[in-house]
Amino acid sequence: SITVFGSINVDLTAYVDSLPVPGVTAHARSYTTGLGGKGANQAVAAQRLSQQPVKLVAAIGEDAFAEQAISLLTHYGVGVDNLVRIEQADTGIALIHVDAHSQNTITVVGGANMNWPNSGPASECFQSTQVALFQLETPISATAAAMSSARSAGAVTILDPAPAPGSAERIETLLKLADILTPNENEAATLTGIRIGNEQNALDAARVLLKKGVGTAVVKLGAKGLVYASHQYGEGQVAPFTVQAVDTVAAGDCFNGALAVALSEGRTLPEALRFAAAAGALATTRQGAASAAPTRSELEQLMAN
Ligand code: ADP
Repeated sequence: SITVFGSINVDLTAYVDSLPVPGVTAHARSYTTGLGGKGANQAVAAQRLSQQPVKLVAAIGEDAFAEQAISLLTHYGVGVDNLVRIEQADTGIALIHVDAHSQNTITVVGGANMNWPNSGPASECFQSTQVALFQLETPISATAAAMSSARSAGAVTILDPAPAPGSAERIETLLKLADILTPNENEAATLTGIRIGNEQNALDAARVLLKKGVGTAVVKLGAKGLVYASHQYGEGQVAPFTVQAVDTVAAGDCFNGALAVALSEGRTLPEALRFAAAAGALATTRQGAASAAPTRSELEQLMAN
């Protein structure tokens, strides 16, 4: 099975004509409540593509948003038995404004997501997990503990170093625990000091990341596809699928969820990366985060073209 350790947020989105400025009250035309947080997004993306159970190990608070988070996850069919309720904490939320030109402002309140004890989640969470997914919206110590537990259980660990961690030193321990690391251009640049403008220097960055202890480094290049360097599979690239992109939010999360599904089904790394790239591309063709995740048939159709 697939297990995701990560964040869950309730996204509160107000659609306004123009973004609020100090001293002026903006009146929204409409409002939506959705599921967000990189952990939840990756879990939903994986579950959409897979018959096997996907579970999310995440922290919620004692507030009313906790119930909303649970019901949203349940709506998407993601297992909620491993959610942990943190006493006196608030559930993570994102306060989002979107204006008439689709420009946005986003404030994330980490809340319970940032309140894990250093020991992380119970190691039993990773029992019989084949592939485990991690991101950086949870404390580094707890994430390291979770990655160690996953490895001990025999799972392949995939770390999405997002949001960008500031420096490689900050997540040194996590890099050594990552079988696969999946930075985008900006995150790869932050982790290696290499400015990424093309496939060649993206590959240079991937090589540097291998030296920092990851098993496979995949640098996601948006509309340019991806490159990878791997101890087991050597080096290569995956060309992008051509789509009409309207909203790139959560492309990376869909990519990672799909990568986990493909690997759990026994595909080789190059095959799994192509599957993931198709999922990332499809995610850009619609608005939204979790709700933008493609279905299996959409994905297979794109791959067959
Ligand atoms: P992130 O969302 O983490 O910044 P990217 O934007 O690089 O990650 O997207 C992840 C992957 O999704 C890319 O490597 C690529 O395979 C696919 N993808 C993203 N944007 C596009 C696009 N406009 N056209 C085709 N594929 C895309």
